Amino acid sequence: MLKAYSYIESEYLDPGIVDRSVFSIERKIIAEFTANNPTPEVLSNCVFCGGFANVFISKESVSYQRCSQCFSIFANVDDEIINRYKIYAPLMQFRNSPEFQNSAVKRRQDIWNDLLFWLEFRFARYLHGEPALKIINIGNRFNHLAEMIKNSSFCGSYNDSEPADVVLYFDQFRCLANPIRALTEIRGLLRDSGLLVMNMTVGSGFDILALRDKSENFLPYEVVLLPSTEGVEHLLNKAGFDVLEMSTPGALDVQHVELSKDALGASDLFVQYLINKTDRSTHAEFQRFLQKSGMSSHARVIAKKRYGFDETD
Ligand SMILES: [Zn+2]
Repeated sequence: MLKAYSYIESEYLDPGIVDRSVFSIERKIIAEFTANNPTPEVLSNCVFCGGFANVFISKESVSYQRCSQCFSIFANVDDEIINRYKIYAPLMQFRNSPEFQNSAVKRRQDIWNDLLFWLEFRFARYLHGEPALKIINIGNRFNHLAEMIKNSSFCGSYNDSEPADVVLYFDQFRCLANPIRALTEIRGLLRDSGLLVMNMTVGSGFDILALRDKSENFLPYEVVLLPSTEGVEHLLNKAGFDVLEMSTPGALDVQHVELSKDALGASDLFVQYLINKTDRSTHAEFQRFLQKSGMSSHARVIAKKRYGFDETD
């Protein structure tokens, strides 16, 4: 597997990709759903590698566990709750509203341009520049991004034919009750040697581990799974994929920790020092180090459907 070093320049991310007022409305709607759909504590071994897992934190009655072997973070949430969450009308309506969609375009346009460029480059590398790819984009939340993909040079068809050459699965992995089943279903949509491309938050990232329960990523049921890079690879292998490359081009870990620095524990001496006593250029260098080392919390993964994989293996 190629441990790629891809990298998002951070200047245009300075205002952040999240509009705080939009996020606070979203969060309120999510909290209402969670309050009405409690999850009893069910503890298990790691859903990624099977290793032993301790309780890591609890949020809104949901216990997140952390694997002592692969360092993935996960919660055991009932299938039925996740299915209801995914079609929860107030949330779907808000995310389809002009307020949500326009704010995303304003904040994310440069990130999407970067993503399209990256996809084009990767398809040239792994699919040898095959024209008119059949693309399935699962769970896309942003209308403008869908338009950009449909109009891209590599897209032949969008969400209308199987088996697909490429399945895009952006920011969906975090909200799954049964990740192996989801990956197996995706496998069924792909032709042999087709590509699965995922964007995800990983629980091995700096801001998640520095902020722990203060991280906004622990938001049931929007976030149920935060695998480590190792956990993702393990699960993809088990589901019949070979990982071609994984990179963590996230640019915002240090900024996230800085924004929540008052929540840092008094004993987090290294992080306290880094955030409070070093300058912006050190922060930027540290962020670059996280990107290069696979330790940022935003990951991109490309995996290929393994030919001749027998699900009973
Ligand atoms: Zn594990």
